[in-house]
Amino acid sequence: MGQHPATQPAILICEIASAWPATGGTAPIAGGAGQEGSTDGAAVTHRRQHTSLPRRIGLLGGTFDPVHLAHLRLGEEAAEQLALDRVLFVLAPHPWRKAGRAITPVADRLAMLERALAGNPRFALSTVEIDRPGPTYTVETLAALHAEMGPVDLTFILGADALLDLPNWHRPDEIVRLARLAVVPRAGRRLPSRAELEARLPGLGAAIRLQMPRLAISSTDIRRMVAQGHSIRYLVPDAVAAYIAERGLYRGA
Ligand code: ATP
Ligand code: MG
Repeated sequence: MGQHPATQPAILICEIASAWPATGGTAPIAGGAGQEGSTDGAAVTHRRQHTSLPRRIGLLGGTFDPVHLAHLRLGEEAAEQLALDRVLFVLAPHPWRKAGRAITPVADRLAMLERALAGNPRFALSTVEIDRPGPTYTVETLAALHAEMGPVDLTFILGADALLDLPNWHRPDEIVRLARLAVVPRAGRRLPSRAELEARLPGLGAAIRLQMPRLAISSTDIRRMVAQGHSIRYLVPDAVAAYIAERGLYRGA
């Protein structure tokens, strides 16, 4: 996820609302229900019964260049283990932490993500960071989501590499205040102890550790495999492999 200097609430409301099920109407913005943002079971259940609104939201940010099966499995594991109503896949249009390499155009990454998420009702694509001038920051995205959605229960889902990088992001202390963190190990990245994490950034040690079979897949490897003419079948959804082939992406990567 990236960065934006000024939020654009109108766009945000629209995008969040479109990620909501029709049963909830246009009411993702809280209507004074008081306790629903807490993890107190009774209050949350009460609110859900009356509005059918998803209140437990996971955010999975990434460059998705391209989206692969480990991203999807990560979303699925988080949804199951944390009983999330929705996992929003947030595409970072201009990832400032990856400024060193050419990134595939947003339209292509978006098209692949759309195809990958299709068919899973708990998954939704968030374009909240797209079409904003300049860099976009995760902390701003989280703050904007809270502002627009009311007391929603937000979990920021990440792999170990991203968690270890988080202290270098913009206003990391605010990020851990605005969302619960949930992390999975990633092949090649040892997850430090809670105490070690806490020493790096207060709040980091509290990250929930999700179970997930290690899938040693990365977008970097997929780009390289395509460039070398190798098959990427069963590493990305079929529709994504087809899109990459049709558009001739990554051939010169
Ligand atoms: P790249 O190689 O281009 O950096 P990537 O595979 O790391 O791509 P990103 O879009 O950078 O994918 O990652 C988005 C999120 O998904 C990050 O939180 C990252 O840690 C997580 N993630 C990506 N691949 C895996 C994986 N194989 N296992 C667990 N988490 C993963
Ligand atoms: Mg990465």
